[in-house]
Amino acid sequence: MHQQLRDKLRAGCGAQRPGGQRRVERWIFQVALGRVSLGVYPNGKENPAQRCMLGGSLRVGSQRVVIVADFRCSVQDYVAQFARLVFPRPDACLCCGQSGSLVGHGFYVRKALDQECVFQVRIKRWRCKACRRTTSVLPSFLLRFRHYLLAVISQALVARFELGGSWLEAFKYVAVDGLPSPRTIGRWCQSFAEHAVIWWAAVTVLLAQVAAASPALDPLGSTAGPHNAPSAVLHAALDLLAWIKTQVPEMTGYGLKDRLPALWHWGHGQGLGRLV
Ligand SMILES: [Zn+2]
Repeated sequence: MHQQLRDKLRAGCGAQRPGGQRRVERWIFQVALGRVSLGVYPNGKENPAQRCMLGGSLRVGSQRVVIVADFRCSVQDYVAQFARLVFPRPDACLCCGQSGSLVGHGFYVRKALDQECVFQVRIKRWRCKACRRTTSVLPSFLLRFRHYLLAVISQALVARFELGGSWLEAFKYVAVDGLPSPRTIGRWCQSFAEHAVIWWAAVTVLLAQVAAASPALDPLGSTAGPHNAPSAVLHAALDLLAWIKTQVPEMTGYGLKDRLPALWHWGHGQGLGRLV
């Protein structure tokens, strides 16, 4: 399906089918059991495709402002090359809207874990000269509120929701010397399942806008993906990545393991909140 979508996008992005949007709207309404509508999109007037192409990934929280950025490197390279990285700086403060007011404000250090290492990851900060609030730039290999790298969390989610294992089987699949613990993996799976409906709906709306002929949008088609939300998000993330790759040439080499960082990067910019 991944290849099919890419082929269609290459053949011409005018793959919009008459009535495709209405069909998807009905489907989302059904699968979300009334909990989700197209209104989940925060930018009713703004084309999310355009935002993604422009690298838009801004999110204003009630307490802290965080930008998620893709540095196109591993955590090891990020740590080693931190001084040479170029950090995205919003044109205007995301709190007060003052243009050109953000100046460098050092960094803070947070832990990032995989099964064997603890990385000390520096997180770049900007500060607004007008309102004095700070904006952090979070690399897309990290989630908010989770110590483990997204790559490790992804392994657990794939084991649980794509390979169909139990939490314990996911633990055996991911853990090295007992870490991460079964309880931690259980919390990841539970949280992902709780948020999956919103993310699934949002990706589906985007695909309907940019690739309405995608088989992922036909709930009755033979190539349709899974119908439970957590599995469907993992499935749809591949289509999302395929589309992003058509828009961002630098991401041509991105593959299966990059789908959740790409999803997180995109979805955070759409205001979707927590992924896991
Ligand atoms: Zn400000």
